Amino acid sequence: MILVLKPDTAEADVAPIREALSARGIILQDIVGASTTMLGLAGDTSAVSADWLMTYRCVERIVRVQEPYKLAGRKFHPEDSVFTVRGQAIGGGAFAVMAGPCSVESEEQILAVARGVKACGAGFLRGGAFKPRSSPYAFMGLGLDGLELLKLAREETGMPIVTELLSSEHLDAFAKDVDVIQIGARNMQNFSLLREVGQLKKPVLLKRGLSSTIDELLMAAEYVMAGGSPEVILCERGIRTFETATRNTLDISAVPVLKQKSHLPVIIDPSHATGQWQLVESMSLAAAAAGADGLIIEVHNKPEAALCDGAQSLTPEAFGRLMQKLECVRQALSM
Ligand code: PEP
Ligand code: MN
Repeated sequence: MILVLKPDTAEADVAPIREALSARGIILQDIVGASTTMLGLAGDTSAVSADWLMTYRCVERIVRVQEPYKLAGRKFHPEDSVFTVRGQAIGGGAFAVMAGPCSVESEEQILAVARGVKACGAGFLRGGAFKPRSSPYAFMGLGLDGLELLKLAREETGMPIVTELLSSEHLDAFAKDVDVIQIGARNMQNFSLLREVGQLKKPVLLKRGLSSTIDELLMAAEYVMAGGSPEVILCERGIRTFETATRNTLDISAVPVLKQKSHLPVIIDPSHATGQWQLVESMSLAAAAAGADGLIIEVHNKPEAALCDGAQSLTPEAFGRLMQKLECVRQALSM
């Protein structure tokens, strides 16, 4: 971190900054130019906030040399992180496909979809038991009954389950029964929930907020990791832009950018990114080609009867075709 001081700052004005930073164990190095003086800060500056430093009136500007996400960043962890959940690998060359309905609706539905996606090669079963809905009158999910149905599907298929935690009220149930805890786009900056979920020390699938930058996503991952869980999967699921042709705009460049900045696995959600089942296949193939570590895709056995997100859900048959094409892209990439 570098502090740029205002021109003609007197030493008496800088002295309190020196004192406060030294008290925090930070070593200061003066860089004196013809018209500008700068202070280089060395040591652990992760807890030094730029906002606080800007309260000193002699500070003109602050330049962060190092990203503030020490745990999520690649700098101190150059190798890709690889996690294994019930025998299914994520990251480091493995391609994790998570598939299932937007929400768990009934035993018949979740078992039919679970069997269908498993037969096509999906590694994980997704399904919302608690649904974040824009309207308070919409279907909110089956709650803990939905979790029981996911467990039933896991028992039969052996697939680990991925489901969204909406509130700290259900931390214990999720700690006990869920394999990968999803934090949805709307809760990406629910910092107390992020810390609490980190304390469970379980794999976390963290979705990018609707209008969040890549650095904000990485800071959210840092919260989970600082809470105690190193196993965080980052998920790009489309962001809000001026474009209305798709539900969101898939930021495909987030894949290589995140992988440059972080060692954590990066997956794409083409379903929520586009909102249209017709676009899911092309965006999935693009994600694989861009170097994603996997996908999370909505699949429903009867999309026309879905209680949530039917228009963006693939049928198991279309999902099967996509899995075959994905294999071709993955083979082409390995050449
Ligand atoms: C979901 O995956 O079911 C979901 C609600 O996604 P998002 O948080 O990305 O909107
Ligand atoms: Mn959905």
